[in-house]
Amino acid sequence: MDVAIVGKGPAGWSCAMTARMRGLSTVIIAPKDDASMLRKAERVDNYPGLPQVGGEKMLDIFRQQALSLGVEEQFGLVRNIMPTGEGFMLLVENEVIEARTVVLCMGAGKPVLLPGEEELVGRGVSYCATCDGMFYRGKRVAMISSTEQGAEETQFLGSVVGQLDYYIGKNHRTDGLSQKAQVIGEKVKALAPDENGIRLTTDQGERVYDGVFIYRSAVALDMLLPDLKVEGGAIVTDRTMATSIPGVFAAGDCTGKPLQIPKAVGEGNIAALSAAEYLTKLG
Ligand SMILES: Cc1cc2nc3c(=O)[nH]c(=O)nc-3n(C[C@H](O)[C@H](O)[C@H](O)COP(=O)(O)OP(=O)(O)OC[C@H]3O[C@@H](n4cnc5c(N)ncnc54)[C@H](O)[C@@H]3O)c2cc1C
Repeated sequence: MDVAIVGKGPAGWSCAMTARMRGLSTVIIAPKDDASMLRKAERVDNYPGLPQVGGEKMLDIFRQQALSLGVEEQFGLVRNIMPTGEGFMLLVENEVIEARTVVLCMGAGKPVLLPGEEELVGRGVSYCATCDGMFYRGKRVAMISSTEQGAEETQFLGSVVGQLDYYIGKNHRTDGLSQKAQVIGEKVKALAPDENGIRLTTDQGERVYDGVFIYRSAVALDMLLPDLKVEGGAIVTDRTMATSIPGVFAAGDCTGKPLQIPKAVGEGNIAALSAAEYLTKLG
């Protein structure tokens, strides 16, 4: 792929359309229940050409237009982006997508990690049930989930583990929940190592598990792309939307205020043109 775009909000779709107009092979990636801020807008009045339109409808119009131009769509949370020298490898759940340039259009949503979480990643805490579920055959497992995808992943986990407690974070659809999963409505406060596994503390008490799986709709920037320059929570770019990493561009709410649709769309357009210029120079 010439361009991989992370995020399916106005910035991502706009970037995808311009990238295709420049003849670049383009993939756009976000989870199935993508978390674009625009979904929450009941009515938008400041976008030229689409008066009084609802946010969901607007996203659907953007998507149809981009797909008709040949944009490829992928589903999943991008968990990590690794520079390879010739481009980038994006880890999307348990799959790898390769691209020569990346445009970050992830919006302003930032995950708040649990106290103790970062230190336990790879030592009992995982973000991918498909990748790591088999390590917990017959064992006690907790899933802390704010996404529909977390609920779906319990189908596989439930068939492997001995006990599966499902802690519901942000409200989401749970139709896909395994019968094995026991829903626990307590608020998770912290994780810590314990001689018998991982101690999970909630607002009502403590439990110990062998493994903990966490599903959220966003990834912390320092986990996604460790060397990316960030100031005040916003990705630093120049006027061409280039970030501190050559070949990586950013657009929309993730680059900072104003958090507005027309600004996101404009930046997405510039990022695509800059990615095209970067690829032309690479030859
Ligand atoms: C209630 C409400 C009303 C609003 N009304 C207006 C309005 O009237 N006019 C206006 O101009 N603006 C309005 N806004 C603001 C507008 O919605 C945002 O400015 C706009 O959606 C930003 O677009 P974006 O593409 O940068 O990010 P978003 O639209 O937030 O999209 C981010 C995308 O990135 C995805 N993502 C995040 N992390 C990852 C990852 N690691 N891997 C893969 N995908 C990822 C998300 O799932 C999502 O698809 C409103 C916002 C809200 C909340």
